[in-house]
Amino acid sequence: MSGARIGHGYDVHRLAEGRRLILGGVDIPWERGLLGHSDADVLTHAVMDALLGAAGLGDIGQHFPDTDPAYAGADSLKLLEHVAGLLRERGFVVGNVDATVLAQRPKLAPHIPRMRENLARAMGAEPAQVNVKATTEEGLGFTGSGGGMAAHAVCLLIG
Ligand code: MG
Repeated sequence: MSGARIGHGYDVHRLAEGRRLILGGVDIPWERGLLGHSDADVLTHAVMDALLGAAGLGDIGQHFPDTDPAYAGADSLKLLEHVAGLLRERGFVVGNVDATVLAQRPKLAPHIPRMRENLARAMGAEPAQVNVKATTEEGLGFTGSGGGMAAHAVCLLIG
């Protein structure tokens, strides 16, 4: 099937003491980090799910099961490289990705340029094709209370 295909991804991770906070491959100094089997990079996970969704390839849980010790502590950018390879094999090119991180704290704006560079590099794209935004949820819900962070992503693939 050729043409443009849209994809959506959404992910959530809890915040916990004694964990690094990694978003879009950027290691952000913070009092807590995201909990998960891999590096728990919630932004990169949402981006991967958007790409896999657009390609009709399921989700990251199918490709990188959290029961598999191979993915313990995994660098999510490496997983994104793998996903990008799957897309290339099927003749897809990334048009663009747009993502939003939902987090009450810390301030993410200073880190966004590096997130865009990291995600773009892993996908074989340019930073201009990868937009990242951050918002709080005004103190509401689990992101507002600091229980966790969430990320949404959409993408367009050209096939
Ligand atoms: Mg995840």
